[in-house]
Amino acid sequence: MTTALRIRHLDKHFANGRHALRDINLDVAQGDMVALIGASGSGKSTLLRHVAGLVAADGGSESLIEIDGQCVQRAGRIHREIRKVRSQVGFVFQQFNLVARLPVLVNVLVGSLHRASWWRSWTRMFPAHERARALDALARVGIADCHAQRASTLSGGQQQRAAIARALVQGAKVVLADEPIASLDPESSRKVMEILARINREDGCTVVVSLHQVDIAMKYCPRVVALNQGRIVFDGPSSALTPALLHELYGVQAEELLRPAPPASEGVSVHVLTPPSAVAWPAKVAAAA
Ligand code: ADP
Ligand code: MG
Repeated sequence: MTTALRIRHLDKHFANGRHALRDINLDVAQGDMVALIGASGSGKSTLLRHVAGLVAADGGSESLIEIDGQCVQRAGRIHREIRKVRSQVGFVFQQFNLVARLPVLVNVLVGSLHRASWWRSWTRMFPAHERARALDALARVGIADCHAQRASTLSGGQQQRAAIARALVQGAKVVLADEPIASLDPESSRKVMEILARINREDGCTVVVSLHQVDIAMKYCPRVVALNQGRIVFDGPSSALTPALLHELYGVQAEELLRPAPPASEGVSVHVLTPPSAVAWPAKVAAAA
């Protein structure tokens, strides 16, 4: 079986001394759907940002992250071909979701830019077959009727779905989602999780999704990796995560993970959108790395 994600001896100290990741070792097989759970501050986003190659780990000589056998970072250095690796990864990260002022369809078409010539990415002219593919992806996530709207006018759940459509258009083999349902109401949360489960099942996408509700992780993800204070404290079938085990792993923080999602209005929390210049974010991020 191919390993979609391999992480070895990953440690991260931030400049302020915070030891955010502690000797993380993890293998995710191709086609797996894995929940990364943990109370807030446990290191979920930091771990996913390392996997995306947005943050370099400490420079331990054995420190390694690979996606589909391609190096993301090694010994604390982001690989120079990171853009190529990233083009095969779908990101459903709040800070990179969509370009607010551009129509939804164009946001989704951005997923195909790695296949485009430079002038076409620049002029944002997309051939009919790519537009059809993007519309199809929007239909699969249930928001085809929103394709002409500016991304900023979408609700939180619709934005997450558009980000998933972009990953589909991109042909991503691995999808990383960082708390994609954190600010959604239960119905929107269910839709987003079902779409992630569907692309896992139907397209064979490997999905790694961070969540801080155990009930959702158990419902949609056969495997759970639990983080606590930067360390993996559990890695196994979600069915094994009983409330008793969670209390053993997290103490009083277990309550935060066991709490069901509070009902919220979907429109209340629309994610911060990236500035317009972020159309070419992989290039910007690569330059910053
Ligand atoms: P989670 O996503 O599980 O809520 P994070 O990965 O955001 O947790 O944070 C893990 C820990 O690392 C927290 O203690 C957080 O305060 C710290 N942290 C995250 N990013 C930074 C940063 N850029 N500088 C310093 N500390 C950070
Ligand atoms: Mg987080």
